[in-house]
Amino acid sequence: MKTTHKGRTIEIRSPHSPHNRYGAPAYGINGVWKTEPTESPLLGRPGQSTAELLDELKRFIDQLDAEPNVRHTTYVWWYAPGRAEICPRSKNRVSAEHTKGVGAPCTDPGCRREAALEAQRRARRTGITAASLASVLTRAGYVNAEKHWDGVAKSAGFMASGEDRNRRVAVLWSKSLGPGRVCAELAEIADFLAGKGYRVEVTPAAGALWVFPKGSAGERPVWPAGRDGWAAEEK
Ligand SMILES: [Zn+2]
Repeated sequence: MKTTHKGRTIEIRSPHSPHNRYGAPAYGINGVWKTEPTESPLLGRPGQSTAELLDELKRFIDQLDAEPNVRHTTYVWWYAPGRAEICPRSKNRVSAEHTKGVGAPCTDPGCRREAALEAQRRARRTGITAASLASVLTRAGYVNAEKHWDGVAKSAGFMASGEDRNRRVAVLWSKSLGPGRVCAELAEIADFLAGKGYRVEVTPAAGALWVFPKGSAGERPVWPAGRDGWAAEEK
């Protein structure tokens, strides 16, 4: 017999059919009669009637359609056309191919691990380091302060240091005016970096800037609104 259910073609051959040598009803879904890679036939149970098997296949299809996620262990041809595909990542692997939802993240444990690692790498790439920010500033003509061996500045200039595992870079000026006040040079740097799209905040004690990667969420008002909280040096 041949019928369709929710977009799938279901064919069933009873054990009495000349094309069925298995002693159990054999079935095909959308023309697939054997599973890769072992080429085992798709079979019901011995003694099962065609009607019982059809019922079971329809229930399984209903169940798949009701689930929010595509099962990575279920063959693509079980799914309604356009809902599932062979996961592209699994095509280059030694292990068997698996299934993912079209336009959905793969639920295979290996793919989930890989996706998590990639997300981490992306976050690191868009991160910010003292060296990268210092080179942005020196290219724009700002002078990097020379430092003594103990890190204390020996010439006028900016100083950048990575903080919070490269989530942000603190920028200060070698001749800091102390808590609550920011020198004109630092205010100019803040304007420059904000103009470049960086998220610039003023540290809680003022006197230094916190610079975050472009587009990142910060904690405090963004420069220049944050400037109201501290007194810039009078010129
Ligand atoms: Zn996958």
